[in-house]
Order: sequence, then C-alpha cells, then structure tokens
Amino acid sequence: MRAELVAVGSELLGPLRADTNTLWLTERLLDAGVEVAVRDTVGDDPELLESVLRAALGRADLVITTGGLGPTADDLTREAAAAALGRRLVRDPAIVESLRARFASFGRAMPSVNEKQGDLIEGAVALDNPRGTAPGQRIEHEGRVLVLLPGPPGEMKPLFATHVLPALEARGRAIRRRVLRIAAMPESQVDELVAPLYRSVENPRTTILGAPGQIELHLVGEGASPEEAEERIESLAVGLRERLPGRIFSEDGRELPAVVGELLVERDLTLAVAESCTGGLLSVRLTDVPGASRFLDRSFVTYSNQSKVDEIGVEPGLLERAGAVSEEVAAAMAAGVRRVAGTSLGIGITGIAGPDGGTDDKPVGLVYIALDSNSGTRVHRALFPGGRGRVRFQATQIALEILRRALLGLGPL
Ligand code: AMP
Ligand code: MG
Repeated sequence: MRAELVAVGSELLGPLRADTNTLWLTERLLDAGVEVAVRDTVGDDPELLESVLRAALGRADLVITTGGLGPTADDLTREAAAAALGRRLVRDPAIVESLRARFASFGRAMPSVNEKQGDLIEGAVALDNPRGTAPGQRIEHEGRVLVLLPGPPGEMKPLFATHVLPALEARGRAIRRRVLRIAAMPESQVDELVAPLYRSVENPRTTILGAPGQIELHLVGEGASPEEAEERIESLAVGLRERLPGRIFSEDGRELPAVVGELLVERDLTLAVAESCTGGLLSVRLTDVPGASRFLDRSFVTYSNQSKVDEIGVEPGLLERAGAVSEEVAAAMAAGVRRVAGTSLGIGITGIAGPDGGTDDKPVGLVYIALDSNSGTRVHRALFPGGRGRVRFQATQIALEILRRALLGLGPL
C-alpha cells in the first residue's frame, strides 16, 4: 500500500514554519506497514490543491491531507478535495449543531463562518474532532481512500490515531527498516558491487545514500508481520555481506566510533591518539561514545613540530628530513603516543586540511594515518577531496575504519 501526504498551508512554504505533520504521519504509517511514496506541501490555493489531489489520487492508494479545514477564507481543503473527486459538498446539520453546542459550552455564539466546517464531501464519513472545531473526513473513491485531517498537530494526531490507524493496522502488514553502513569506500564502488543484487529484489527495497566517509544502504522490507519483514531484510543482507566482505560496520544504527569502542572493550585493549591536522576531532568523536574511558586512555593535539617532539617524542631530525606531513612522522606519532601512554594501540594523524599549505608534492587533502600496535606500525596514505571540514572528518573516519579492520583481523584498507 502506497500513501501520499499533502500538507496544506501557505505558511508552510515560507522559511518560518516547518511541516512536521507529514513526518509524524510517515513514521506512524511505516509502523503500520504503509509506505509513503510522495509528500507534497501546497499553499492555500484551491486550484493548485485540487490538481495536487487529483494527481495524488491517481497514484496512491491512500491520500492524507493536513490543514485547511478551519473556518476562515483561506481554509479550502474541503472545497478543493470535493472538486478533485468531482463530488458535491453537503452541509451536515448535525455537525453544525454540534459546533454550535461546542461554542455555547464556552458561553459564545458561533460565528457564521464556522458553519462551513459542517460541509461534508458527498459520501464522506465525518471524523469526530473533540479537541477542535473542524471534523476530519474519510472518503472512499474508486478504490482509493482520501482522508482530510486538521492542521494543528494536537488535533491531527489523536484524530489519525483514533479514526485512521486502527483500520491500517487491521490489514496485518508490517514494514521494517535496516541501515547497513560502510566506511572508506566510494559510493560508486559500493553500488557497482551490490546494485545487481539489490535491484533484482523488490522486497526489501534498497536505497543507497552517500555521506562524507560513509555509505549507507537503507533496506525497507515488508511482510504480514514484523518478523516476516525482518526475514525479508535478512535474506538480502546475507547477499550484501557476501559482496562487501568485512565492509559493513553496522546494521543496528551505531556509528563507527561506537562500533570501534565496543570492539576495543571486548578485547580489553586501550587506545591513545595523537592528532595534528584533525585537531582533536577523532578524540571528540571517540569521547562522544558513552563509556569511552573504558578504551580511550588519552589524546594529544600535537599541532606544531615542537609539540610533536615535546609531548610524544617525535625525533626533531625526522621532522626536518621527512617533513611534518609524511609517512614517517605519522608512524612516529602513533608509536610515540602509544609509548607515552602505555596503551595497547596508538594512532597518529598528520596531513594538510587546506585550503592553503598544499604543494605539488603534498597537496591539500593529503593525510597520513598510522596505527601502532604489538604487531608493528602500519601507515595509510589518503588523498581526500573537499574542503577543510570534509578532509578532517574523512581522516577521522579512515582512522576509525583502519582500527576496526585491525581489531577484526581484516587486513589493511
Ligand atoms: P489550518 O488547519 O490549516 O488552519 O492549520 C492550523 C495550524 O496548524 C497552522 O497555523 C499551523 O500552526 C498548524 N499546522 C498546519 N499544518 C501543519 C503541518 N503540516 N505541520 C505542522 N503544523 C501545521
Ligand atoms: Mg491553514
């Protein structure tokens, strides 16, 4: 079942007010096994709204609007929906009477503009709205269902939960979602390896999303029960793992620092870090993980040459010979910080984050990342595209992936 959600209100097209209704509805619908295929935001323009609703009813099984059911002149969802369906609006005297009674209960006379809130689309069922004046409406039309909900979230949510959700849940469909995360691989390379597989499978559906230093495969599975939806996802995930051996670092929502932290704790290993071009970003990311003190001993931001000598014992001659941004200095930083801290592992990062400071030999984006352990020192050379922020982030991401691979015995990147 595919749904289309239409947020109505000119205020939602400005920069000041965000449409939160359809995000909330999307989450509830997914839980009930209904996938949202399209979301629209439309201003208070009856012709535009009518054409959007016509299109929506032509492509979705369930169309839900929020907003535009109020009493004022710009509340036109009822009229536009009636026009899109080619049906009349019929004033329901019982609704008008209950609105009048509601106003009377506050000691007020009902303004005549509110009468139009008693207009029902021919054939619609009114959805009682105890928290507001405008009832919602539900109409079946040529095998499609159109639901009109009020705009204020405090009215929309209970109305949806009471009048729409139970029928959807009774269908016995479930949707589940899993995100497979991969670090240190370009999106095109991941796609090349897995696209032939996931494109041949309709359930679950897969989308691939790229972010700096990370690729995500989003799998959305559907079934008669949550367990069946999970089984669908798992059956594709098995094949994806085979095509990306050792590359998927998380399937449960965790980011790379948390994954690495857990591996360190499981192995009873400790880590010390010396950062130059990343300026402490790796340490920030590691200490974002709750309980980081169990695996991170200490970090140094050794930005100047002198600090590399003073804090972690890098040889001054080496800095002169090889330069601060070099394989040798990265290795010396990793080994030095490990020696100073007495940890099982040491990481050293040195590079040129830009935008200035690059040369032909050592261009902006060049970063050396070293890992020192009992089994020796390994240095990885990377050349990252992008601005300063991206270079620095990607350097931390590669450092974490190198560490993860080493901990799992997967060999170098
Ligand atoms: P309406 O039913 O169009 O008169 O909307 C009444 C109020 O509900 C608006 O002024 C907004 O504060 C709120 N509202 C309407 N649509 C949305 C939406 N899509 N997301 C969040 N709030 C909304
Ligand atoms: Mg409005």
